[in-house]
Amino acid sequence: MQNPQFPGDAGPVQDGLFGVDDLDGRPEDSRAPGPSFRDSDRARRMLSVREIHAEPGAAASQRGREVLARFPDAEVLPVDSHWRIPELHGNRGNVERWVRIKSTVLVLGEKKTLTVRANGRSADWIAPGAANGCAMACAYCYVPRRKGYANPVTVFTNIDRIIARLARHVAGQGPKSEPNQCDPEAWVYDVGENNDCSVDALISENTADLVRAFSRWRTAKASFATKFVNPDLLLLQPRGRTRVRFSLMPPDDSRLLDIRTSPVEERIEAAADFVEAGYEVHFNLSPVVIRPGWEQAWGLLLQHMDDVLPDAVKAQAAAEVIMLTHNRDLHDVNMSWHPRAEDTIWRPELQQAKLSQNGSWNVRYRDATKASAVETVRRLVHTHAPWLPIRYAF
Ligand code: SF4
Repeated sequence: MQNPQFPGDAGPVQDGLFGVDDLDGRPEDSRAPGPSFRDSDRARRMLSVREIHAEPGAAASQRGREVLARFPDAEVLPVDSHWRIPELHGNRGNVERWVRIKSTVLVLGEKKTLTVRANGRSADWIAPGAANGCAMACAYCYVPRRKGYANPVTVFTNIDRIIARLARHVAGQGPKSEPNQCDPEAWVYDVGENNDCSVDALISENTADLVRAFSRWRTAKASFATKFVNPDLLLLQPRGRTRVRFSLMPPDDSRLLDIRTSPVEERIEAAADFVEAGYEVHFNLSPVVIRPGWEQAWGLLLQHMDDVLPDAVKAQAAAEVIMLTHNRDLHDVNMSWHPRAEDTIWRPELQQAKLSQNGSWNVRYRDATKASAVETVRRLVHTHAPWLPIRYAF
């Protein structure tokens, strides 16, 4: 059934759109024979699904059936709405339970509201997500703000309608007439606001479908940030129309804060392979966490990038710099399972709180502290990685 919000919805995208390459006659993906990364032990350590909570319509859809077939031993539990699963959501319970939920539970749902939102910072537009939630557990993550910390990945099975909505939006924009910091020539759509598309690609073809769709749209580009290296994405053919933003921070910070993610060194190492595969690779220098010795640690990270990244990566790279944003509720949650992280990211003497629209207190570095830190990062980039333009910093 089509969403009444979009009476002009063209419905499912036609088969031909994702079939044979209409540009050069080659098959769209060059998948090599042999096992996928997503069937490897490493992938299974990230996700070993035993329980799938599914809206009936989502389970019956083609994408839903594919996901269920991929995890045949998982118990399937019907739910009315992917938004209301009290035994999964919320902040109760300890971290072992959260991590177990994140790594063993999936939710299948249909995305009802297919809104494309203007952004203007990281991307021109925020696309309706093809997933919500994450199997990783970064201590500062804002994604759980609506479902609580133990939010496992919800896969939205109506990917055809999400892509059809994007196709209409891209067509409606026409070519980009003026360059901006998001991109000089393409409209950039963030396709991973509340999820990590690299992890999602362990579960379903949603990420691949988005990469394929954008590879055909000459005026648009997909973009997503990731902290997980998924080599299966190298088998797609993005043709320069998907920007992968590897998030980076000094390895010591990452080991403390980026729980369950790929090591920072591995993310840097992967950049060359992704460029070679046809992705644009940018870097999110984020979050920047002010702690004793942070300037030196960021200097070393940037020096390392300068040492190991090949010219092919440097020639096309750009960066976003994002200072840490925290949240009072998340601080309270973290204190019960990872107080050592809070020693570093909860610094009231440096931070100020602001009431958000949803009634929770967001915490940021005070204006002067933040401005000075942003200038420090700019100087460090200029010194150690002068090839890396900063698209924006805040
Ligand atoms: S990888 Fe991103 S979405 Fe996942 S927990 Fe970390 S910050 Fe959140």
